[in-house]
Amino acid sequence: MPRPARYVQDIAEAMSIKYNNRVYEKKRRGEDVISLSFGEAYFDIPLFRFDDLPTPELYHYSHSRGLPELRALLAEYYRGRFGVPVDPATEIVVTAGSKIALHMAFMATLAPGDEVLIHEPAWVSYTEQVRLCHAHPVQVPYETTVAEYRHFITERTRAIVVNNPNNPTGRLVTSAEWEELHRLADEHDLYLISDEAYSDYVLEPGGFISAAAFDPAKTHTIVCNTLSKNYGMSGWRIGYVFTNEEMLRQILKLNQHLITCPATILEWYVVRHFHEVLGITAPQIRDVVVKRRAVARMLDGFGLRYLPGEGTFYLFVSIEESGLGSEEFCTRLLEERGVSTVPGIGYGESCDQFIRISVGSEGLDRIRSGVEQIARLIRETAAVPELNGAAVGA
Ligand code: PMP
Repeated sequence: MPRPARYVQDIAEAMSIKYNNRVYEKKRRGEDVISLSFGEAYFDIPLFRFDDLPTPELYHYSHSRGLPELRALLAEYYRGRFGVPVDPATEIVVTAGSKIALHMAFMATLAPGDEVLIHEPAWVSYTEQVRLCHAHPVQVPYETTVAEYRHFITERTRAIVVNNPNNPTGRLVTSAEWEELHRLADEHDLYLISDEAYSDYVLEPGGFISAAAFDPAKTHTIVCNTLSKNYGMSGWRIGYVFTNEEMLRQILKLNQHLITCPATILEWYVVRHFHEVLGITAPQIRDVVVKRRAVARMLDGFGLRYLPGEGTFYLFVSIEESGLGSEEFCTRLLEERGVSTVPGIGYGESCDQFIRISVGSEGLDRIRSGVEQIARLIRETAAVPELNGAAVGA
């Protein structure tokens, strides 16, 4: 029997999706699960009309860069909100979700054997996508500062991945850090691949800074973003990537061979309702970030620690006191207590003493029950015997 390619066999499953699939299966069987593992916020968004969208166009492929009207709206969005100029004619491609946009960015920049710096905790797909390009992810442990990145750069380094705000910590890149990152990119001839999927989940005005704000010509910057999080439309699979014209041309070829274009009907729908949907989701995004703050206080009350961060709807919670690794911890939490979370090990080798919780899809009361179960499981599996069985407060 022929065998699948070795390097594909070696790729790990996406940890968050693996756990979410278990949740979907449990729910289908009618089990109640407190779902703190989902990578999305559930918003109230009305369904607008489809039957007034242009036919027959919506039955057919669109331009492989994406509908010009949609490119114009996305370019204006980045210019208006984040002060980043994007030429909709030459610098942006709309594609089927940002996951493939990131992969195309890796394909367009990496040769076999090249190295890519990825700061942990890192969203689950960066390392595997880099491996799929026959390149090497260099995982930078979570305590490392941007100033220390130099120690990880070699002759083979081609790119640095930056996820701002970070999934799973919510951490934001400061302007001083961006200056340092762009200096490194200039000095070592590197690409900065900036994943800005959670750009709107930031309360302070100016708190989110796009990578391209420091490189408006985008000479070494490739930005990926998506409608999955900021619009709450993950199921629609619409993402985009922008960079300089020449690099974009390379990415466009990949898009032509891999995707052709996103679903045209959905592109048209987004064009028609772009501002309406943003207007509807903006206050809900604010609410979820406020809710995240409330959950952070809840964790404080339970004596649980988490890595610092303010954006997104995730918290990366320490389970260090438990004697369990993060996969065993999350499996037991799900199977024995009906609470789904994502093991930290999926976010890097240095993160096995963490789990990710998401506050996007459950109300505060159920989140509190979930957090209480996390605190209990930590106590009951504590490596230090005197913590074992200690009362759980808050
Ligand atoms: N980047 C990050 C940091 C994410 O969390 C996700 C989704 N979980 C993506 C990219 C991909 O999102 P999509 O493909 O839905 O645009």
